[in-house]
Amino acid sequence: MASLIAHELEESVTDPDLNAWYDQRGNENADKCAWTFGAVYKTSNGAYANMLLGGKDYLIQRNWVNASGGYCAISY
Ligand SMILES: [Zn+2]
Repeated sequence: MASLIAHELEESVTDPDLNAWYDQRGNENADKCAWTFGAVYKTSNGAYANMLLGGKDYLIQRNWVNASGGYCAISY
């Protein structure tokens, strides 16, 4: 759920009226990296996560970095 909220938040910032940033296929920035997480680790309950925020583990999708030819990343 946190990953989906992050996905939609990213797109609301870069394409709030559905006429701003998207690629030639109509994918917005978060769509280009949907369901990709980069390096993950296993938490104590067996779930996978890729970041620790406020002492809690989260599995948040990567986002499109529109630089250097473009790539998916957790940070820029
Ligand atoms: Zn999307």
